[in-house]
Amino acid sequence: MNTIKKRAQLVYSRLDQISPPQIQFLKQQDPFRFMISVILSAQTTDKMVNIVTGPLFSMFPTVKDLANAPQETVEEIIHPTGFYKMKAKNIIACAQALVDKTIPSTIDELVRLPGVGRKTANCVVGDVFHKPAIIVDTHFGRVVHRLGLVDTKDPEKVEFQIASLLDPSKHYRFSMTANLFGREVCHAKKPSCNECPLRDLCPSADAFLQVSSM
Ligand code: SF4
Repeated sequence: MNTIKKRAQLVYSRLDQISPPQIQFLKQQDPFRFMISVILSAQTTDKMVNIVTGPLFSMFPTVKDLANAPQETVEEIIHPTGFYKMKAKNIIACAQALVDKTIPSTIDELVRLPGVGRKTANCVVGDVFHKPAIIVDTHFGRVVHRLGLVDTKDPEKVEFQIASLLDPSKHYRFSMTANLFGREVCHAKKPSCNECPLRDLCPSADAFLQVSSM
């Protein structure tokens, strides 16, 4: 096994040990509502998504209801998530594409739906269908890059590079544990390197620690 694969396994195991068994960031767990929540989560926080999806699904509870929703009403409800015009258009179009159909279970089919990119598709495949999925969002991308597990910041390349380092059975769990770790320890601005359980495995630690001691 090459060095980077070994390091990826060690990172996986440590994060697996210190993380809760179930990790969920979005409140809506019904498959369709979950997928819409992920579409809304682009460029905003999950907290904000969880705030707007309550009223959104109270007003438009079914796929058909959302498919027939007036765009202005949806825009008004989801406004706080940003990019609300585009998101409203996409989630209505996505609902229209799924009326009387089941949610596809493969990345290739999912990315053909309006507003669904690889991140959303991977979330659905992993969370709803319990299949291997590498979910590259801002937290995950930052963590694996700082840990030197990838040599790119391009989300699609990150997805494939990480996928090649770990057994598929570990992909979804790693997506969630590394994401949580990015939110709680390896913060974007001031990572908590002093208390980090991955410090001995991280090539970025010394640089951050030097800056913080200056
Ligand atoms: S040592 Fe610092 S930069 Fe490296 S993973 Fe830990 S918190 Fe992130």
